[in-house]
Amino acid sequence: MFESLSSRLGDVFERLKRRGALSETDVSEALREVRVALLEADVALPVVKDFIASVKERAVGQDVVRSITPGQMVVKIVHDCLVETLGTAEDINLAAAAPVPVLMVGLQGSGKTTTSAKIALRLKTLDKKKVLLASLDIYRPAAQQQLEILARQADVGSLPILMGEKPVAIARRAMEMGRREGYDVVILDTAGRLHIDEALMAEVAEVRDAVTPTETLLVVDAMTGQDAVNLAREFNEKIGVTGMVLTRVDGDARGGAALSMRAVTGRPIKFLGAGEKLDALEVFHPDRVAGRILG
Ligand code: GDP
Repeated sequence: MFESLSSRLGDVFERLKRRGALSETDVSEALREVRVALLEADVALPVVKDFIASVKERAVGQDVVRSITPGQMVVKIVHDCLVETLGTAEDINLAAAAPVPVLMVGLQGSGKTTTSAKIALRLKTLDKKKVLLASLDIYRPAAQQQLEILARQADVGSLPILMGEKPVAIARRAMEMGRREGYDVVILDTAGRLHIDEALMAEVAEVRDAVTPTETLLVVDAMTGQDAVNLAREFNEKIGVTGMVLTRVDGDARGGAALSMRAVTGRPIKFLGAGEKLDALEVFHPDRVAGRILG
């Protein structure tokens, strides 16, 4: 991921970096290419506009630091703006009384179930937490069984399945089991739909109100492209998202979704999913990503 953005910008910046002096035309031309590169990487138009405006604002009237060329300075300003837009690296927030409820939300097929198990494995391995997984997906056939299998693979707890139970009741039972059996974290994997719809949002909101999650993580497929903005905005407004996970960054996603979602919601991207295996979860480092984009 981010390679196409990186190679697009690479040429522009190579040219810029070599220049001793920069005319205004050089800068405008470079920014035009930055704009095209961001759009081609699927960053949403309003986000691109804001981004270019803030780079321009900062570049104008800057004293050129002696040790670097004006070209390098523009590159640095773009880099700083990218880092700012991408936010800071933030780990999962577990600052609440145990068992800490973590709600996983998103569309069907985004990678919610896999990501739930990945996060459980990470918390168990790195943080030595006792984690309980529970699937609230009563609609997709075998969704609950799928999570149960993944829980076994990760060697973490899973809530026994009771047929016919409603999502809110499952969530409550998971929290009860969490309390009773001394779990540190309870991860609730909600049902997704193919598209956002009222019924989905109402159900997730009901679960949220029942358990008051410490984290509500929105899982989004990195290939979602332009739709990522609407998705992130909608979930954030209706449910209240505390962080995001971008999955399938191992595919040929163009990386723009990360920038757009972060800019639109102001919520941090916490993890990247980089494969189907349970250990394929990475912490999101904005500075590294910005570095990778700029090459
Ligand atoms: P859900 O419907 O949102 O719960 O999605 P699932 O967790 O069932 O994932 C759907 C498919 O995507 C499964 O085949 C997963 O193995 C796959 N998947 C999930 N995360 C990733 C990822 O980061 N990379 C890749 N390549 N595949 C993933």
